[in-house]
Amino acid sequence: NTKLTKDWLQNYVDDWVDFYLKHTGEGEVASYIPLLSQAEKSHLGISIMGINGVTIESGNVDIPFTLQSISKVFTFIVACMERGVPYVLDRVDVEPTGQAFNSIMHLEMKQLKKPFNPFVNAGAITVTSLLNGKTSDEKLEPLFQLLETILGYRPSLNTDVFESERETSMRNRAIGYYLVETGYLESELELTLETYFKQCSIEISLQDLAHLGTVLANDGRDPKTEIEIIPKQFARLAKSLMLTCGMYDASGKFAAYVGIPAKSGVSGGIIAVSPPRARQEDLPFLEGCGIGVYGPALDKQGNSIAGIKLLRHIAKQWDLSIF
Ligand code: GLU
Repeated sequence: NTKLTKDWLQNYVDDWVDFYLKHTGEGEVASYIPLLSQAEKSHLGISIMGINGVTIESGNVDIPFTLQSISKVFTFIVACMERGVPYVLDRVDVEPTGQAFNSIMHLEMKQLKKPFNPFVNAGAITVTSLLNGKTSDEKLEPLFQLLETILGYRPSLNTDVFESERETSMRNRAIGYYLVETGYLESELELTLETYFKQCSIEISLQDLAHLGTVLANDGRDPKTEIEIIPKQFARLAKSLMLTCGMYDASGKFAAYVGIPAKSGVSGGIIAVSPPRARQEDLPFLEGCGIGVYGPALDKQGNSIAGIKLLRHIAKQWDLSIF
C-alpha cells in the first residue's frame, strides 16, 4: 500500500499546500495590532506530528510567530492546574458565544453570570487574573515551564509585538473595566492586562504548535515517554472547549466541516488536535496527531483563510473527524 510511505504523505501534503496557497490572497493580515500587519500575507505552512513519531512539514515552516489566542488554551490549563477546575469554572463558563472574540456585547447580557468561555477575550482575561503571582513574569512562569517541558526549550517573548499590542489595547481595556465592575478579576487590571498581552506575545514555531497538539492528542502525556505533563482531565476539558469555542465565531462550522478540536490566533496560527481513534485504513495519523498551521492572511472571523481550507481538506481525506 503506497499510502503507508512517508514520501507519499509528504508529496500529498506538498501538493495541497501548493494548491491552497492561492487562497491566501482572499484574506487580510491582522492590523489592529500594528506589528502583526508586517506578516507576509502569502505565507502558508503546516507541520503534522503523529503520536507515533511520524512528522510531515510543508510550505513556510520556518517563520516564527506569536501565539496570540492560542495561548488561551494553555493559560486555561495552567489555571486549572493551579486552582482546580471547580474554582476556574466558577468564574468562567464553557459556552460558545457565537460572537467575535473581542465582543463586549455579551458582557452586557442581563442573565450573564460569568464570561462565556476561556477563549473569548473576556474569559481569557479573567483566567489570566486567576494565575498565581504578583508580577506578570511570576504569573506566566508556570506557563513557560509547561511549554519548556513539552518543547524542550523555553520560548521567548516577542517584546515588539507585546508593546504594539499594549499600546493599541483599547478594546481589551474596555473588556477589562467591565470585568472589574462585575467583580471577576482576581488581580489588578493593569497587571492582568500586561500578563495577557505577554502570553499572547510568546513566540513559537510551526513545529512547536504541532508538538503541543500531539501532547493534547495524547491526553496530556508526552508521546515519546508517556509521562503525564498535563493531567488528562484538563487536556480533555481543553479539547472540548477547542471544539466548541476554539475557532472564534466560526467554531460551529469548523466542528461540522473539519471535526477536530482546534484553536486559532490572529497571527495566523492554528493548533489542531486529532485524538487517537480506531484505524479504518492504515494511515499513520489515525493513531493521533497534533497539527500546526500558519497562514497570516485571515478571514472575517480572524482564522487563517488558507489554513482552514487546508485543514478541512486533509481532515476529510485522512478521515480525522472525531465524529
Ligand atoms: N492578543 C490578541 C487580542 O486579545 C489575541 C487575539 C486573538 O488571537 O484572537 O486582541
